[in-house]
Amino acid sequence: MTLGELLASARGRIDRLDARLLLEYATGCTHADLLARPEMPVIGPAAMQFEDWVARRAAGEPLAYLVGEAEFRGRVFQVSPEVLIPRPETETLIELALAKLQGMPVPRVLDLGTGSGIVAISLALECPSATLAAVDLKNGAISVARNNAGRLGASVQFVESDWYSALAGQQFDVIVSNPPYIAAGDPHLAGDGLPFEPQCALTDGGDGLDCIRAIVAGAPANLAPGGWLLFEHGYDQGEASRNLLTAAGFKAAFTHPDLAGIDRVSGGHL
Ligand code: GLN
Repeated sequence: MTLGELLASARGRIDRLDARLLLEYATGCTHADLLARPEMPVIGPAAMQFEDWVARRAAGEPLAYLVGEAEFRGRVFQVSPEVLIPRPETETLIELALAKLQGMPVPRVLDLGTGSGIVAISLALECPSATLAAVDLKNGAISVARNNAGRLGASVQFVESDWYSALAGQQFDVIVSNPPYIAAGDPHLAGDGLPFEPQCALTDGGDGLDCIRAIVAGAPANLAPGGWLLFEHGYDQGEASRNLLTAAGFKAAFTHPDLAGIDRVSGGHL
């Protein structure tokens, strides 16, 4: 089979861009090769890999899990089905955290529910004066995150912990989190690829605010005076998030939209 024939075989079964990327991953060829030399023959094992991936993608498996990696903020992170796939909207959390970190001399930062580590690692690399700690409930996620930090040259202390439980009251200047915030039974959970992702990273199994309640409630004991808590949430959770923050003693509770204009991150300071 040739490059062109393989690409044509995926047509109508999966998204065109996904087909092109999978063919590039399977064969090692570039986009330019696909355009300029569609008659190039593909060796058997690469063609079989591509055909297996196309069938699995057509059945809903996310591309990132098939190829084992995904990009976030221009860096490549390894992912497995033990961690959520990076979403572009999480850049909003990074941008807001970086803005708060600016002007703090040696800030201590905590990332709660780090998953693949994208938030902690991005902050460590983009704010070199900060010291980063990151926790996750799942040992499997910690392994993925630690591996990503090593590959990307980020210094982050990873701890297996149920939110703050293993931190023994350590104090931080900024706490960030992208927690599970989708309500149980939300039809979004059945969307493209989501059934293959760890459900415990997407939904709290309740109204979608359970983890946010736990994160807000535990933050004062782990924040230095003046410290900031910032967390990602769903499109309709801004008001509830600000109310939780204010009730827990946070000042200047705010909500910030993502690049699509959707309420995405709320926060406040002590
Ligand atoms: N933003 C993600 C989605 O809509 C959910 C991420 C999360 O629950 N933390 O798929």
